[in-house]
Parts: sequence; structure tokens; C-alpha cells
Amino acid sequence: MKVNQAEFIISAVGPDQYPNDGLPEIALAGRSNVGKSSLINKMINRKNLARTSSQPGKTQTLNYYRINTDLYFVDLPGYGYAKVSKSRRQEWGEMIERYLLEREQLKVVLQIIDLRHPPTKDDQAMYEWLVYEQIPRIVITTKADKISKNKRNKHLKVIKDTLHLEKEDPILLFSSEEGLGKDELWGLIQNQIAK
Ligand code: GDP
Repeated sequence: MKVNQAEFIISAVGPDQYPNDGLPEIALAGRSNVGKSSLINKMINRKNLARTSSQPGKTQTLNYYRINTDLYFVDLPGYGYAKVSKSRRQEWGEMIERYLLEREQLKVVLQIIDLRHPPTKDDQAMYEWLVYEQIPRIVITTKADKISKNKRNKHLKVIKDTLHLEKEDPILLFSSEEGLGKDELWGLIQNQIAK
């Protein structure tokens, strides 16, 4: 996909702030600091449009980025950040859950996981929930540049096994540093939109 224009639209705190032009939405889920902002920036060839967070877990908003007049990336708040209070965490879980269950424009969730480590309990719970709710998903293992090439498949296998990855679910290696996986991911996103 050729990105001609990418624009930050809004940090939404609730449904009344979500855009109403009906464009397809691609949501990104993952724990804080996993590399969601970096992935968005890489996909749109920008260094700094999506803010890479120096304060993980602080953003409790859905951040909308419009790509051309084709689609939105919706960056969900990072999960699993211990310093957020329990009530805060619950409130934020409810906002994400409502969005994921009710948003008609949502085409697919990109679940971002760090290739270096086995999925956390939160990663596992998130994936299991997406499967249970039958929400289309693509698993993206990022920071691949930090693992030597001959070890990447071993790490992928750990991630597949730990998540009990469904056969039909795509999983891909990604690096925001090197651009690995970028074209493949655009292809998968476009397939989902065309469905
Ligand atoms: P977010 O909290 O999920 O949005 O994570 P960020 O995009 O802010 O990334 C967190 C940190 O990981 C930053 O220091 C990034 O530079 C780094 N990072 C993200 N993706 C990659 C990657 O693919 N490779 C490497 N080497 N570092 C990455």
C-alpha cells in the first residue's frame, strides 16, 4: 500500500469521539512498550507520528491515525502495566472490550507480541478472548531484529505453542528497525478490509 497521507486524528476517551466516516479500522493491542507506536510509524514511513511512549501505560485513550482516505489505525492502550491502579485497569479494560465487541468498522486486531519472550499471561488472555469472541486477528511478533536469524523460528514456535495459536491465524515476524514484515502486513490488512 502506498501511504500518501497519514494523520493523527484524536485520542478518544469514548465512543462519541470515534470518527463517524465509516472507514475500516485496524486496532493494535499489546502490552505497554511492546512496540505498537513504532510499528505504526514504520507502516506509514514516519519517524514520529505515533508517539513512542516514554511513560508506558499512561495513555488510557484510543488513538486514531487516518491513513490516506483508506483506513484508521487505532492504537489501544497498552495492557499489563502494573503501576496502573486496579480500578483504572478495569475501567480501561471495559473501554477496550466495548470497542472490540461493538465497533462495526473494526476489521482486524493486530496483536503485538515481543519475539524475544514467551507471551505473558496478559498476552495469552487477550488472544484467548479474541478467539472466543471470534474477532479476526493477526499475531505480530516484533523486535525481530533483536533475535539472530537462526533463532527466530524457535522463538516463533514458543509463541505459537504458548498462545495455542489457531491454524487459520496469521503470525508474522516484524521489525520496526529494519522494516521486516511490513509489506506482508499491508497485504494481510488489505485482505481483511476486502473481506
Ligand atoms: P508502545 O508502548 O507499544 O507504543 O512501544 P514503543 O513503540 O514506544 O516502543 C518501545 C521501545 O521499544 C522503544 O524504545 C522502541 O524504540 C523500541 N522498539 C519498538 N519496536 C522495535 C523493533 O522492532 N526493534 C527494536 N530494536 N526496537 C524496537
